[in-house]
Amino acid sequence: MARRFQNYIDGKWVDSRSGRTFENRNPANWDEVIGTFPLSNKEDVEAAVKAARKAYESWRLVPAPKRGDFMRNVGDILTARKEEIAKQMTREMGKVLLETRGDVQEGIDTAYYASSEGRRLFGHTVPSELPSKFNMAIRVPIGVAAIITPWNFPMAIPTWKIFPALLCGNSVVFKPASDTPATATTLIEILLEAGIPPGVVNLVHGGGTEVGIGLVEHPDVDLVSFTGSTVVGKRISEIASKTLKRVSLELGGKNAQIVMDDANLDLALEGVLWGAFGTTGQRCTATSRLIVHEKVYDKFLAMVVQHAQKLRLGDGLKRDVDVGPCVNEKQRQTVDEYVKIGAQEGAKILTGGKLAKGDGLSKGWFYEPTVLGDVTPNMRVAREEIFGPVLSVVKVGSLEEAIAVCNNTAYGLSSSIYTQDINNAYRAIRDIKAGITYINSPTIGAEAHMPFGGVKETGNGHREGGWTVYDFFTEWKTVYVDYSGKLQRAQIDNVEK
Ligand code: NAD
Repeated sequence: MARRFQNYIDGKWVDSRSGRTFENRNPANWDEVIGTFPLSNKEDVEAAVKAARKAYESWRLVPAPKRGDFMRNVGDILTARKEEIAKQMTREMGKVLLETRGDVQEGIDTAYYASSEGRRLFGHTVPSELPSKFNMAIRVPIGVAAIITPWNFPMAIPTWKIFPALLCGNSVVFKPASDTPATATTLIEILLEAGIPPGVVNLVHGGGTEVGIGLVEHPDVDLVSFTGSTVVGKRISEIASKTLKRVSLELGGKNAQIVMDDANLDLALEGVLWGAFGTTGQRCTATSRLIVHEKVYDKFLAMVVQHAQKLRLGDGLKRDVDVGPCVNEKQRQTVDEYVKIGAQEGAKILTGGKLAKGDGLSKGWFYEPTVLGDVTPNMRVAREEIFGPVLSVVKVGSLEEAIAVCNNTAYGLSSSIYTQDINNAYRAIRDIKAGITYINSPTIGAEAHMPFGGVKETGNGHREGGWTVYDFFTEWKTVYVDYSGKLQRAQIDNVEK
């Protein structure tokens, strides 16, 4: 029998107040039920926020290095359980084991980084303009953080948010995606095992409108960290503005790899196959567009098509599989619709372009790795996020044109250029409008200690990862200590009369 999962609220594992549940199934074999989960509503949100508010008052007083010790424990437990979690994740959302192992590793790296940050959380000391006065700016926690996450990185993305939130002294209410609630539950179990006190983290399963919006609207939630689609991010931003919450939005992408005529084509080929079809193209940083210089277009496109055809589809737990299924039926339909739109707009389906059939594929949401040629920059398949194993290929005549095509989308997350010419590389770094630019490597593959995020409709200016995320989860407090024993008036007493 499938496991019955619960919410975690105020230090206890509980069902939803309504008793309603939802099921989660393996996208590679829809007969396999991963578990049933609480379908929560605003009452559950209320209880979780109340618990988080109460726990915040003691958690904020725990010294940051001590909070860092908890994070080190979390890293150790994740390391010990890496393989088991990776398998659970592959069963739950389909990407191949090699990649789910990487997803857990990102959580491990983030935990150890957070642990070390417990002994930094640097502020500033600055000279005062007045004698016998000391000025400093220190970081203080903010309060209750709502964490809302997507399904494509079920461990890494929650850890990017929850670990720094906790390290900075905030308490957390976590609403994971309904397609990956089991991995989210494992993460909470690990935080508890590592010693995080009851109520400091709370888990509420359920849908976006009931639980997600419920958290964003709640007056006692101080900040919202959201990763997901641009359409939902905009809605969250509107609602949160009514209570002036701090909101971090990490949203969609339409990332491009540029291949110049001087590129190492074998390297560029490996890059585009990994970038476009890794995680079945369901990464915010996936290579969704390939922009190729006309001098190498025919040769390189033939290489890409030939190798895309060799990719092996199947259950990500099997050793010889390169590409897993789409996460669910709706996502697969979206992919198929986009391929049809591309064909209607005049793109050529060079390989793939249909639901995958064959041995071991009949009960999963598989879609053939697809390459669309003759794509022009204004086609929808060249500008809109597809979030599936589809690569749109555009031909260009120069670096300037390549960069203009690359920038011709509402998004601005990741980008890449393959070239042997250092001048091309630096011009791309300067002129591409994106949060991330890779030189001679694919659009995917973030490192946990570097800032991560995008421009334009990919976000609202915050960054996850590295040192930058600690700015989001802390407030600056400016402190003046006057030890002169008399009234000193800034901008008045230090000006010569
Ligand atoms: P989604 O926006 O549908 O859902 C994300 C989360 O928001 C889920 O937990 C969902 O339940 C919740 N949600 C849905 N509607 C809501 C609402 N009205 N109010 C509050 N919460 C709501 O996205 P998804 O399908 O889970 O993920 C795919 C999207 O995420 C893609 O667009 C992808 O590019 C983006 N993404 C971005 C990044 C990044 O760092 N920029 C990383 C991964 C994924």
